[in-house]
Amino acid sequence: MAVHGLRGRFAARTVRVKAPGKVNVSLDVGPLRPDGYHSVASVYLAVSLYEEVAATSTASGGITVSISPDSTLDLDGVDIPLDERNLAYKAAAIMADVSEHATGVHLEITKRVPVAGGMGGGSADAAATLLACDALWNSGLSRDELAQLAAELGADVPFALLGGTAVGLGVGDDLSPALAKAQMDWVLVTAEFGLSTPEVFRTLDRLRHAEDLDVEEPTAVDPKILQALRGGDADALSRVLVNDLQRASIELAPGLRDTLGLGESCGAIAGIVSGSGPTVALLAHNREAAENLAGELERKGLNALAVHGPVPGARIISDTLL
Ligand code: ATP
Repeated sequence: MAVHGLRGRFAARTVRVKAPGKVNVSLDVGPLRPDGYHSVASVYLAVSLYEEVAATSTASGGITVSISPDSTLDLDGVDIPLDERNLAYKAAAIMADVSEHATGVHLEITKRVPVAGGMGGGSADAAATLLACDALWNSGLSRDELAQLAAELGADVPFALLGGTAVGLGVGDDLSPALAKAQMDWVLVTAEFGLSTPEVFRTLDRLRHAEDLDVEEPTAVDPKILQALRGGDADALSRVLVNDLQRASIELAPGLRDTLGLGESCGAIAGIVSGSGPTVALLAHNREAAENLAGELERKGLNALAVHGPVPGARIISDTLL
């Protein structure tokens, strides 16, 4: 909505939204489909590491994107496009198409989720932008309508909007919320490099092909995973963590095997590569154990962060008339 002051002067408004990164507690990947995609069956968990997007209306029209200096990541040498290739830009463009009162908008992204880290950071930016622009332009879309737009932007975007715990089928965008509210504690070990998700999938296909491995289309997740999550039973969960992409990520970045081993030798109950990696998620018994583990890994020179989940999906944290 264009906001005008008493003398018709343009008054800018900023809507700030935060959206969580995710860990795939389980990720079964089917064979390469003729359309180039892979079917998956995955349990997504939203964790307490958040991206923030501040969307400010502008009189000049158009969409601009910047990365906030408050970002906690070291973004030196990291390639994040700020033009129409940025997922947040794409989200604003989609919202502008469906909003009657769209103005120009500047998106300032505070990055905390590692870039190309397998935690859906760009997807969180897109989900946050959808919600921010919906509020900024009074589009009045329902959560379902926003979820449909989210699915157009990428397989992980609907989950960043939804948050919590969810089962994802199809390419990951066919989401069903899972009633699993018990908190689990994790340590995220982030890498100083990224892995390209398409390359990790291609590597998995190559490894399977070389082994003549026939895999079936995944259609459901192991019910034991949801049981463990519902009961907050970290030991039970540690026995069923699975990620089909992990071997491909390790093929591309062999050091991940050492990170997983070090995590377990320092007290993690279990560890798993998150999504396409290279972030590693280590499971701990409780918050104190997670903080101790993160401290121990930091002392060994790794970049480690204690987080918990599930946490809610994208939500507005402030709405200010400037
Ligand atoms: P996923 O697991 O959903 O594939 P990811 O967490 O591994 O994602 P992202 O951080 O979302 O990876 O970004 C992957 C690539 O997308 C980056 O290397 C970057 O070039 C591009 N990109 C586009 N928009 C963004 C954004 N808003 N933030 C970060 N990267 C972005």
